[in-house]
Formats: sequence, structure tokens, C-alpha cells
Amino acid sequence: MPPTLLWHRSDLRLADNAALTAAAEASSGAVVGVVVLPEHPYEPAILARPPQDGAGTRPPDRTASHARAARLNIVPGVTRTSPRRLGHWLQAIDELGSAWEQAGSALYVLRGDPGACIPALANALGVRQVHTAPCPAFDERRENVAVAHGLAASGGTLHVHDETTMLAANDLPFSIDALPDVFSNFRRLVEKKCRIREPLQRPSLAEMPAALRTMAAERTHATLADGVFAEARAAAQAVDPRETFTCHGGRSHGLARIARWFWQTDCIARYKETRDGLLGNDFSSRLSPWLSTGAISPREVAAEIRRYEVERTANDSTYWLFFELLWRDYFHFWVRRWRGRAFKASGVLGRTPCGSQDQAAFHDWCAGTTGEPFIDASMRELRTTGQLSNRARQNVASWLAKTAGIDWRWGAAWFESQLIDFDVGPNWGNWQYVAGVGNDPRNRTFHVQAQADRYDGDGAYRRLWGTSPTAASTP
Ligand SMILES: Cc1cc2nc3c(=O)[nH]c(=O)nc-3n(C[C@H](O)[C@H](O)[C@H](O)COP(=O)(O)OP(=O)(O)OC[C@H]3O[C@@H](n4cnc5c(N)ncnc54)[C@H](O)[C@@H]3O)c2cc1C
Repeated sequence: MPPTLLWHRSDLRLADNAALTAAAEASSGAVVGVVVLPEHPYEPAILARPPQDGAGTRPPDRTASHARAARLNIVPGVTRTSPRRLGHWLQAIDELGSAWEQAGSALYVLRGDPGACIPALANALGVRQVHTAPCPAFDERRENVAVAHGLAASGGTLHVHDETTMLAANDLPFSIDALPDVFSNFRRLVEKKCRIREPLQRPSLAEMPAALRTMAAERTHATLADGVFAEARAAAQAVDPRETFTCHGGRSHGLARIARWFWQTDCIARYKETRDGLLGNDFSSRLSPWLSTGAISPREVAAEIRRYEVERTANDSTYWLFFELLWRDYFHFWVRRWRGRAFKASGVLGRTPCGSQDQAAFHDWCAGTTGEPFIDASMRELRTTGQLSNRARQNVASWLAKTAGIDWRWGAAWFESQLIDFDVGPNWGNWQYVAGVGNDPRNRTFHVQAQADRYDGDGAYRRLWGTSPTAASTP
């Protein structure tokens, strides 16, 4: 029987992986993994201009007019990813490769256009079925179409599993197109009507021939030998002395974080009181970098919350972590519901936002040189570490979109580039929410000074990032 392929996207793990389970069932456990890295990781960020009709149903348009239209939408000075974020992914991919080897099979790490790479690999291995589980946003849907098209040419098929969430899409008491407009309505419905499934065990995998494993190792080695990846690894490893939380990509590190934050320190039991923190290791779970690569799954975190509640304590804080994971689910379903509108300036509400494209003001915001100390401290932390607390994200987003009146999509693109936990639905959904074009029924504006007084009353955060008048250093 020919092997099946598991095309990893944001699911860099073997356990609790519905696509892997399906791939293994289809081939008596003979599965090979593949990851495709971008050819040009540091290409400019482009504001998506989705086609008006037939979105995601045609292979990508590569005509010159499409390229010209894309050039007009470049976000000035912003790349699609930063070396640090790419390095974080590489760390997770390294561990994933070892997991495949230990299971007796192999992971191919390729580089280029998935529409060409995946069908070519499938042909080389005699594969008929490719399984994958992306967060199906615009780019991913286009990739799926291109890959399905390429596979069909030699009789192969692509099987897409919608499984990046805690709640299974099939278990929702409504169709994705009828996703409630407001989070609290979503939460009420799913809490009443849905159960969270147990995480799936890793399926047993068949030992693959030594020749195949050697070929995979050689291809992977050749892909990763490029200096661009060495640079990214170095960026992910660099630690700034001001950094309060250092994060290494990969499943074992995500599981170690759960062990520490849940079981060794019991921080989860105080989370509701601490979650608005700005400084330190433990005010929130810090699980988002591993959730975004899929090194750990939200269902695994939910199972750990349940276990903690049975074995230690169940309180408002343990519930609140689950509540935040529901927010994550909501935005994953949201991007599937709204498709191209998730990325449009007018958002899902179709409102006209303040949309200045003042490049100098935007670059001051990115660099942390606006002159507003609380905003600048946050933006310096983001640029230096790739991390930012939820409280700081809300403030800087509100400031850019509402106070400075700059195109919120530029801010979302900067976050996408810089955040090591970038996740398409949570990022673009939260940006729309804060910018007042998304699903916030209250449409609030954060008052920066009041927020600084409340959450950084002693100025420690601003001092650390060199934005207070009494700062010891500036970056
Ligand atoms: C403008 C803006 C952009 C954001 N961009 C991203 C992003 O790209 N990736 C991302 O994972 N989160 C994003 N968030 C949500 C949130 O800020 C982060 O998930 C959180 O700060 C991560 O830290 P943590 O893991 O310690 O979270 P915790 O507070 O410990 O929460 C646990 C988990 O719940 C989920 N979660 C928490 N808050 C939210 C939220 N508001 N929306 C969706 N999921 C949530 C995350 O998966 C998080 O890891 C954004 C928020 C804002 C306001």
C-alpha cells in the first residue's frame, strides 16, 4: 500500500492531530510528514485584495496585473514575517522531525510554492492521498486549491481537516456561516450545547523503508542549509536582558510550560487576578507561541485544565483560561466565516474606519518613538522580543487605529510580522475588534494615560523599556 502524506501547517505535532489520524487510517499507518517553508520569507507584507467572487475556488492568479495590484497594497517597511518568528517555527519543526524519526518515519522539509512542491513529492513517493489541517484563512485556502489541482493531475486527492480549534467545527450547534456576530452569544451557545472532545492519541505509524528516510533527511538538510534559516535560528535564540519570558519553539517546551504554570507553581489558580500583567513570567499562561504553531493543541490544554480542576482546584481562574481558549476558537471560526472581509479596511461591519496611511507616524509607532511612553514601551518590547501581553496589545492597537487614526490593517500586518505567536484569526479578529470595524458591540477607545496609571502605576514597565523620563537607558 502506498504511504499517505501529512502536510503540516499550523499543527506541528503528532499527538491530537486529526489529519494524521485520518492519514494513518487510510494507509495502515504508512504516513510521511511534510512541511513547506516559504521561498521568500521576508517578502513585503501585502494587504490582501481578494477576488470579489469565487474566492478560494481557483488556483492562484499569477498574472502581471495581479502582481501590479499587489504592489499597490504593500505595507511600507513591513515583511510578512520577522527572522525571530521564522526561527520560532524552525525550532518547532526540528522537534517535529525528531518525533517523526522516533516513530520510524520521516519529515520532509521543503521550500517553495506548496502548489508545486506537494504534488511533486506525492508523485515521487507514489502517494495518492495528502491530508492537511490548516487554519483555513485566505492564503491557506488558495494553497489548498493549488495543491488539490496539482494532485488531481495524477489522480491524487487532498483531504482537508478543519481541526485547529478546541471545539470541533462539526460539533457546533450552528453552521460556520451562521457564527454569532458577538462573542458572548457564541460562548453561551457552545457552553450549553457542545462538549470538548478528548485529545486524540498519536496513531501507530508503520516503519518506513530506510531509503525513504535517508532521502527525507537529505532533502531536509539541503533545504535548511540556506543561510536565511541560520539567521532566523540565531534571531530566535537571541535574548535581550530586558526580556521577562524566554520562549523556545517545539512541543517539549510547550509541555514544560504547562507543567510549570499549572502544576509546579499553581499560577493557573490565580490567573483571573494576574492576567492583565505587563511584566514577569507568569501573569498569563504564555502558551500562545506553542498554540500558534500547533506544537500543542487547544484540546490538550483544555484536558489539562479539567485534570487540574479535578486534582487541585476549580475556581474562576481555571474557568477563565478555558474562556480565553473559547476566544481563540471564536476567531478561528470567525476568519472562516468572513473570509476576505476579515482583511478589509471596513471590516465585517462594513464601517468606514479612520484610515490614514501616514508612513512617518506608522513607523514611529512600529519603532516605539511616538512620544507616548506607555505605547512606546510596548512597541519596543514587541520589536525586541516578538512578545506582548494582551493588555499592551489592546492599548497599542487602539492607539494606532483610534487615536492616531492610521489604517488598522498596517498595524495588523506589523503584528503578523513581529509576533512569535501570530495566528491569523486571533490577530486580524482582535484588530478589527479594537479598531471598531469588527465584533465589539461597545466600540471602545482606550485612554492611554488612564491605562498606564492603572496597569503600570509605578512606571516599572515604561522604565524597563526606556520610555520614562527617569529611564536608565534607551534601546
Ligand atoms: C490587537 C491584538 C492582536 C492579537 N494577536 C494575536 C495573535 O496573533 N495570536 C494570538 O494567539 N493571540 C493574539 N491576540 C490575543 C491575545 O493577546 C494573546 O492570545 C495573548 O496575549 C497570548 O498570551 P498568553 O498565551 O499568555 O494568553 P493567556 O491569557 O494565558 O490565554 C490563553 C490562551 O487563550 C487564547 N487567547 C487569549 N486571549 C485571546 C484573545 N483576545 N483572542 C484570541 N485568543 C485569545 C490564546 O490562545 C492564549 O494562549 C491578540 C490580541 C490583540 C488585542
